[in-house]
Amino acid sequence: MGDYNLIKLQKKVKKELDTNRFQHTLGVMFTASSLAMCYGADLEKAQVAGLLHDCAKCIPNDKKIRMCKERGVEISKVEMSSPFLLHSRLGAILAQEKYGVEDQEILSAIRWHTTGRPNMTTLEKIIFTADYIEPMRFKAANLPEVRKLAFHDLNLTVCRILEDTLHYLDSGNGEIDPMSRSAFRYYHNLFFETDDKGNAITT
Ligand code: FE
Ligand code: FE
Repeated sequence: MGDYNLIKLQKKVKKELDTNRFQHTLGVMFTASSLAMCYGADLEKAQVAGLLHDCAKCIPNDKKIRMCKERGVEISKVEMSSPFLLHSRLGAILAQEKYGVEDQEILSAIRWHTTGRPNMTTLEKIIFTADYIEPMRFKAANLPEVRKLAFHDLNLTVCRILEDTLHYLDSGNGEIDPMSRSAFRYYHNLFFETDDKGNAITT
């Protein structure tokens, strides 16, 4: 047995989420554990992070802002106008406060699951990817391809997800957190030639 009671955590988080979000959560938990098997990461940490990654998602936006302020979290302009972005930061805080998770690897995987960031840990990449490809998802671009790629090359998958997400947001579907661009630049540079500003050389 590991350090966490997954059944108990599951029951607890279920109360905080609507039906669809809970089903998504289970999807992320199982997908994250499959990716952890594939990449030799800790299965239990992957499950706990998957289970709790959206634990703050169903809190109303005004309450999210209030809870962040109460905890001294600085809220950026983008987060103020798209408060749903706060659910990852608040989620990491609540995972610790309310669910008793002290493991920094798990907490940072929750913290960065929405935007990603440059140079992510394996667990961060696993949760970021599982959130996008879990079986209940259907809207995102190129899902069958990304799902397959996820079990072959995790860095390339992260790059691909960031690219598709930025493209989706760029076409007017939401505000972009600057961290997503930094993350994309970082992962794009791992695979493709770029100029000194990080722009792709498209010759
Ligand atoms: Fe989320
Ligand atoms: Fe999610």
